[in-house]
Amino acid sequence: MDELLEEILKECTVFSKEGKVASYIPELAKANPADFGIAILSSDGRFSRAGDCGKVFTIQSIVKPILLLQALMDNGVEYVRAHVGVEATGKPFDAINYTEQTLLSDHINPMVNMGAIAMCTMIGGASYEERFDRLLELTRRLAGNDKIGLDEKVYQSEKRTGNKNRALAYLLKTYGMIEDDVEQVLDCYFRACSIQVDCVDLAHIGFALASHGRPAQDGERIFPSEYASYVNAILMTCGMYDGSGDFAVKVGVPAKSGVGGGIMAVVPTRMGIGIFSPALDEKGNSVAGIRALEALSRKLYLSIF
Ligand code: GLN
Repeated sequence: MDELLEEILKECTVFSKEGKVASYIPELAKANPADFGIAILSSDGRFSRAGDCGKVFTIQSIVKPILLLQALMDNGVEYVRAHVGVEATGKPFDAINYTEQTLLSDHINPMVNMGAIAMCTMIGGASYEERFDRLLELTRRLAGNDKIGLDEKVYQSEKRTGNKNRALAYLLKTYGMIEDDVEQVLDCYFRACSIQVDCVDLAHIGFALASHGRPAQDGERIFPSEYASYVNAILMTCGMYDGSGDFAVKVGVPAKSGVGGGIMAVVPTRMGIGIFSPALDEKGNSVAGIRALEALSRKLYLSIF
């Protein structure tokens, strides 16, 4: 398997030239587009890796399924579903599309920014610091890595410049979809996006979703199986934003991308995959990362369809 991964990296590295590293969060512009890593954790216990697997990057939107999991663990499916929809928007992750029509919960889902910002308000905790700490703790448990922390520079950079997210959060507040103080909610969201991970962490998190709540290390269930079904279904239809349909056809597994260049893929019952290559397409998805997943899916028959 390690050989196959090396081969795929070699074959796909050229595609990173077709993308650009994110620059709308100034600190992310410092990423090296040549970095490329892949890690896989399989249900038979095998762990395979190739390339820049130990390089850390910010989780960005890959935290959205973890936010959703935490909201489900704290409130249950019915409550979460009643407050944030599950339909694909077919729009960019930070789309505003203000039309003078009332914004309804069914217009958003947990994998776009508005839905994820709303998820922050559903995490249990006496303060927003406590909510973030609980989210970080869940991330560490899922990844089996208690050293996971925050990239302070990216957090400050996004907090300073994240005005579009401010606009989205104020729209949520205007339409009564969140009640708490907008700056506090956003602070939790910006911190969540700035959690620092590597490919190995993403492979573990993907594995926990693939195995319906059981992590690789100790086998003790972290969350109920039905939450994995809920999260994985939304990842399948919305995880790659307005590229989700194309990704479903070409790769065929639930996955989540982030503008830090990571992709986490979930192959139900079989494996968790973590990829890092920071050059992005215009939708904010890693170009070489998607190509590598396409190759892997073809070679290992990963598509669930
Ligand atoms: N922190 C980023 C933002 O809110 C996350 C977006 C992404 O990874 N697609 O803009």
